Amino acid sequence: MLTQAHSEALFERAKKVLPGGVNSPVRAYRSVGGTPPFLVRGEGSHVWDEDGNEYVDFVGSWGPLILGHSHPAVLEAVGQAMQHGLSFGAPTAIEVDVAELIVSMVPNIDMVRMVNSGTEAVMSALRVARGVTGRDKIIKFEGCYHGHSDAMLVKAGSGALTGGAPDSKGVPSAVAADTLIAQYNDLNSVRELLEANPGQVAAIIVEPIAANMGVVPPEPGFLEGLRALCDAHGALLIFDEVITGFRLARGGAQEYFGVRADLVTFGKIIGGGMPVGAYAGKREIMEQVAPTGPIYQAGTLSGNPVAMAAGLTQLQILNAHPEIYTEIEHKAQHMADAMRQAAAASQVALQVNQCGALLCPYFTSEPVRCFADTQRSDLEKFRTYFWGMQDHHMYIAPSQYEATFVNASHTEEDIEAFCQAAAAVINAL
Ligand code: PMP
Repeated sequence: MLTQAHSEALFERAKKVLPGGVNSPVRAYRSVGGTPPFLVRGEGSHVWDEDGNEYVDFVGSWGPLILGHSHPAVLEAVGQAMQHGLSFGAPTAIEVDVAELIVSMVPNIDMVRMVNSGTEAVMSALRVARGVTGRDKIIKFEGCYHGHSDAMLVKAGSGALTGGAPDSKGVPSAVAADTLIAQYNDLNSVRELLEANPGQVAAIIVEPIAANMGVVPPEPGFLEGLRALCDAHGALLIFDEVITGFRLARGGAQEYFGVRADLVTFGKIIGGGMPVGAYAGKREIMEQVAPTGPIYQAGTLSGNPVAMAAGLTQLQILNAHPEIYTEIEHKAQHMADAMRQAAAASQVALQVNQCGALLCPYFTSEPVRCFADTQRSDLEKFRTYFWGMQDHHMYIAPSQYEATFVNASHTEEDIEAFCQAAAAVINAL
């Protein structure tokens, strides 16, 4: 066990003034037990905690840091922007630069509206879908997480799953009633809902790779099938690309899978580590948003110049270096293969799902292709795996239902260290 005295003392203080000691539930390590390391510093692929422990970081702030921590160009841009003031609440040139770059990188979009989080992006995109279609119902998938707006806290993944309470108190039943639940990778479940609610479904929202119940990739034809069902029933297709955006490819899942969405939501990478989200679509749809259209949505700090500076710089680097995408995918493949080999050698029941630079081990002998399959993973084994990895200085998400994030800053040594640690931990299971 690593020493954690300073983190433990801080966690005790934190629990007195922050619910659960944290500002976002998964950080509290509820599903693995124990104390979360309080982090003080990150550089490239490594982070340090309050007790001086150094880790290779495979969380990357839950996805945003695709270039690693403290990237010099990003820090430089933020420092420059800060010199001119922190916020104006007025139009600035950098918002135009960011929007133009996003529109040039992402297929099928003409316009973008910046917000401050993934939750806000999804909440706003749902309002747009409802406003444009004049319909109220939304189809989402069990185990997908789309932020914590009322409509989306129904059969949600990520922290809502980890906490053992898939649905939240405080969500009005009238709101939840308009959220219809389908099964991921099961087009029939979607078709049945559309047929049972004719002319009432405004949108189908999906994580193109489900990355909040571990990692569940779409099977061939699934996303294409959703597109066809939306077209047949007059519903909009929303790709929630808060995780997959700028991670799978410059153009995100639309480019990677070759399927067109009507609205796309972003977060995480788009802000380079600062609080940014966005939603985007074709001009006819986006001009329905205020002030040009009747669908209201606003934000005091939206398009904040310091946040835009971080996001713009990170996106410019990704745009100029598409080879990053093949590199991070290869690293993730290598890690997944190493884990599978270790499991085979030591006869541990293990499935490793990997797609792009996202991967997740499930401790089960059956393939994992939908929410029900994820529930078969042995959580006790996951806990042992988690703490074993921590002992090897590997910082991974403290939950079965989160992805392992690979990024451009991971060196060959980092990846080898992960593979060796995982092999040792799996062997000992
Ligand atoms: N959508 C998806 C797919 C997510 O993974 C998340 C957060 N992990 C969100 C939406 C919500 O984003 P935020 O936490 O920035 O509100």
